[in-house]
This record gives sequence, structure tokens and C-alpha cells, in this order.
Amino acid sequence: MIPYEEAIRRIIDACEPLPSTLVDVDEAIDRVLTSDVVSAADLPPFDNSAMDGFALDTSAGVLPPGAELTVAGSRAAGDMAHDAGGMSCEIMTGARVPLGLDAVIPVEQVTVLDRTGQGEVSRIRLESAVAAGANIRRTGQDVRHGEVVLHAGQRLCPASHMLLAALGVPAVPVVARVPVAVITTGRELVDDPAQVLASGEIRNSNGPFLADRLAEADAAVVYRQTVGDDIAPFLESLQQGIDRGAGVVISTGAVSMGRHDFVPEALRAVGARVIFHKVAIRPGKPLLFARLSDGQLFFGIPGNPVSAAVAMRFFVEPALRAMQGRAPTSCLQLPLARPLETRAGFRYLLKARVHLDSEYRLRVDVLDGQESFRIRPLVAANAWAIIPEDASRLAAGTVVQVVDLDGRGIRIDGSGDGDGT
Ligand code: AMP
Ligand code: MG
Repeated sequence: MIPYEEAIRRIIDACEPLPSTLVDVDEAIDRVLTSDVVSAADLPPFDNSAMDGFALDTSAGVLPPGAELTVAGSRAAGDMAHDAGGMSCEIMTGARVPLGLDAVIPVEQVTVLDRTGQGEVSRIRLESAVAAGANIRRTGQDVRHGEVVLHAGQRLCPASHMLLAALGVPAVPVVARVPVAVITTGRELVDDPAQVLASGEIRNSNGPFLADRLAEADAAVVYRQTVGDDIAPFLESLQQGIDRGAGVVISTGAVSMGRHDFVPEALRAVGARVIFHKVAIRPGKPLLFARLSDGQLFFGIPGNPVSAAVAMRFFVEPALRAMQGRAPTSCLQLPLARPLETRAGFRYLLKARVHLDSEYRLRVDVLDGQESFRIRPLVAANAWAIIPEDASRLAAGTVVQVVDLDGRGIRIDGSGDGDGT
């Protein structure tokens, strides 16, 4: 049995960077960049009006309230560059500012004094002072040509998609999805939800969970299979996963000390190198990590659903992040809402809920129902509380490390579903 820190160090050491692939920006959501994106354009690409109003020439100084000006013409978004010849003009939001003009006054801050026969404004009085640059969005004010706008290792989100679209970037280099095989073991498992359970059977809940989480982590599940408790079908399944190109294999179940826990023996039979087996954590202690003879990484994770969730969050996902060139997730330090007892010598990874107390301070509540077979508290959780190996009795208010459930940030009450926005 080794401590968590040692286990994660060995995992990260075994991880190699994934190759890069070019994808269309419209397909790039949630993908991880392999190189910085440097802007080949200014944004905005030209000086344009931030308001519906009138473009003016202030080169002789600030125009005072009460100034009266003649207006000629009107510019709308999409109109080409135009020389105003020093004359004020009507202008709409997003329209290119005419050459020779350098400020915009919003329509609400002028009085229209006269109109042409066609109804176009021809003379205005300013109702407020206007200085150079007022209400103009400058060329490159948001992004300058040549600037790094997104960094290697960054995961693309809708806002970055918006930025790439605004800059006219057609495709970006992203980390290739690591092919993963998932093998769930246990003769008690039933995959088909329509199948009536026979005595002693349960439904496979780890398989769907792992498939979801792997997709969220930008991995590709290339193979999924449920096998019983015998070595031969397991090895057959392992070979099929490898034949489908898996670079990472995850199995659940059969890694503890029970009579049917055959995974370590099966791995030895195919010449795998076990890098560790058993970590001083709870839940999830029997975790096994190995390298298969052809170089694939193998995670043998325990069958209890919460142990599987812990293994995914604290071992598999950090490995995927390392392969993707992403920084490790950061953790918060939050006070416990209630006292807690654990056993020294183990790192406890506990289903937890981060919430705001009555004074709007963040607190972490370690949830009732920590047993590793209990899935329902996992649904109520929005975080994991990490209780260090040297702790045993923790008073309410003790500050502990807290991480999100899935590498996507902690969603606290009031910021998620049902907050009315
Ligand atoms: P094992 O690690 O194989 O000893 O399994 C530990 C516990 O987890 C047992 O109660 C199993 O029935 C249960 N279990 C194993 N695999 C799964 C799975 N894929 N889905 C749900 N429960 C499982
Ligand atoms: Mg089993």
C-alpha cells in the first residue's frame, strides 16, 4: 500500500503527451489546444461606433454643450470606409467611423434642430460635451494583431469559440482523444435495463458512469464490455479493447482480496507490469495501476460505485489531463460545516456539498451516507472533501481541501439549476 501522493506521482510519470490533430472550430468545443492561438487580426477590425448617434470632429478641442452642428449623411453597420470631409454625420452602432471624425455623441444627447426634405437630420445641438474618442470602439481595443489569445492546454468553451469566430480562425490544433477501453467485471452484473434481474444480480452502474465521465474528459471510449469473474473471458475482452486501439484500459471490480478478484493474476499472465496495487485512501484502496506489455496504461478500479467515482476523479482524470497537457485542477480550502471523524493513515475522499452559510460564507458539508455502495449522496454532492492522512478528529470549522466532482468546477447552490436565470 502506498500513499496517494506517491501513487499519483507514478501515474503522472507513466503518462505521455497525446498527439495533436487539426479540427474545425465548430467541432472544437471542449477540446484541448496543443498550441497557443495567435491572432492574425485586430478586433475590432476598424474604429466603429458604440452607439446610435452622430459622429463628430473634435480635433479642435472638446465640443461644449450647446454647440450647433450641420449633419450630412448617415452611416450604418456594413457601410464601407468613407471620408466625411470634416462634416458631422449620423451614425449607427457598429458603423465604421468616417475618416476625419473622431467621436460619437449618442442620439439621446442631442436635439435635432432641422431635417432635409427627405426627413434626414441636417442640424443638431449637442446637449453634453464630447471629447475625442467618445463612444468609439478602437481598432484592436479588444485583441491586437499578433497577440496570444488562447493558450496551449486550454480547453475550448463557448466563449473561446466566440473569440475564434470573431477572429476568423477556421481550425485549431487540439489534443487527439485518447482511446479508452472499459471492462466491467462481475457475474452479478446486468447491462440491459429491460432485463429482469435474477436472484443475486444487480445492474451495471459503473459502465455508464465511466462512459459519461470519459466523454466529459475528452477521451474516446472505443470499447465497452461486461465480463464475469473468470480470467479467460477477461483477457479476451482486454485483447479486444487493445485491438480497437485502446491506449488506456479501465476495468472495474475484481481487484480486492476476495476469492474472485482475479485482475492482478490475469495481468501477470499477460506480462503486464504492475506499477502499484493498493493506495492508502478510502474509499478505493484496492486500486491497481499497470502498464500492459504493449505500453497501454491499465487502471484496475474497485467495483463499488463510489470507489469507481473516486478512482476516476483522483487517478484516471489526472492522468488524462497530464496526457492532454493540461494543468492539474486546483483545490479550494474550506471550513467544515460539521465535525468529522476519520482513521489516521488513510486519505479520505468524501462526498461533500459546498454551500453558502447564512452569512454567505462558503462551507463544506461532508454528506451522510459515505459508504462506497451509496450512489444517492453522490448525486447530492457537488464536490469531494479531502481529509489528510494525519487527521482523525476534525472540529467544525477545520479547513480542509475541496475539489470539484469532475474537473469542471464546483457548482454551488444559487449558481446552477433553478436559480431563475
Ligand atoms: P468488487 O470490486 O468486484 O469486489 O465489487 C465490489 C462491489 O461492487 C460488489 O458489491 C459488486 O457487486 C459491486 N460492483 C462491481 N462492479 C459493479 C458495477 N459495474 N456496477 C455496480 N456495482 C458493481
Ligand atoms: Mg466482483
